[in-house]
Amino acid sequence: MKKVILFGAPGSGKGTQANDLRLLWGVPSISLGDLLRAEVKNSSPLGLQAKGYMDKGQLVPDALLGSILEPYITAEGFIIDGYPRTLGQAENLHAIFQRKNIVLDAMIYFEIDEPAIVNRLSRRRVCKACGAIYHLENMPPKTSGICDVCAGELIQRSDDTADVIKKRWLVFQEQAQPIVEFYRAQKKLLTVDGRCDKSLVFESIKKHLG
Ligand code: AMP
Repeated sequence: MKKVILFGAPGSGKGTQANDLRLLWGVPSISLGDLLRAEVKNSSPLGLQAKGYMDKGQLVPDALLGSILEPYITAEGFIIDGYPRTLGQAENLHAIFQRKNIVLDAMIYFEIDEPAIVNRLSRRRVCKACGAIYHLENMPPKTSGICDVCAGELIQRSDDTADVIKKRWLVFQEQAQPIVEFYRAQKKLLTVDGRCDKSLVFESIKKHLG
């Protein structure tokens, strides 16, 4: 069963690929951002504290995240989207793998530049009900404002605004290099060109990981 991490800046295409790879491999995909947004929606203690960081495009501190991801890390396989985002998180995750005797197949790094993510995120729309992702020009829904999959309402995420996109890009840039090196040293790094069309990225991952 496939066990992979999807790593890249916000808007690099991780969420879109997570959905397609989940269907290809038949393993669950877990987005830390989605888990946190669900906590915010439920006004849980974690959600109430995380919201302030998320609205500003900052990372939620590790002390708040605790072991939120751990139950999803199983020998049945997984696609993790949005974790790790710091070297400390990469080390925490590695410790979980060791404790559970799990061998990671790959860390897939979606390389992209700032103009491309500004374009993607400012025109991104997501389904409020099922989380499906659209782009107003490149991947528009069949009917404006309505999800093709479940007919739910399409919304713009509150952190997909110009200022917060810039902040999220800077946060990513600050943290990325040591994380990439961490997985390169373990020979787990697979780099894909996140600027390419989603079908090309999908084919490239399939070619390397089957
Ligand atoms: P995403 O949906 O992956 O773009 O994440 C949205 C927001 O959730 C981020 O801007 C952070 O505030 C928070 N978040 C997601 N993943 C993490 C993480 N691994 N560590 C800390 N905060 C995170």
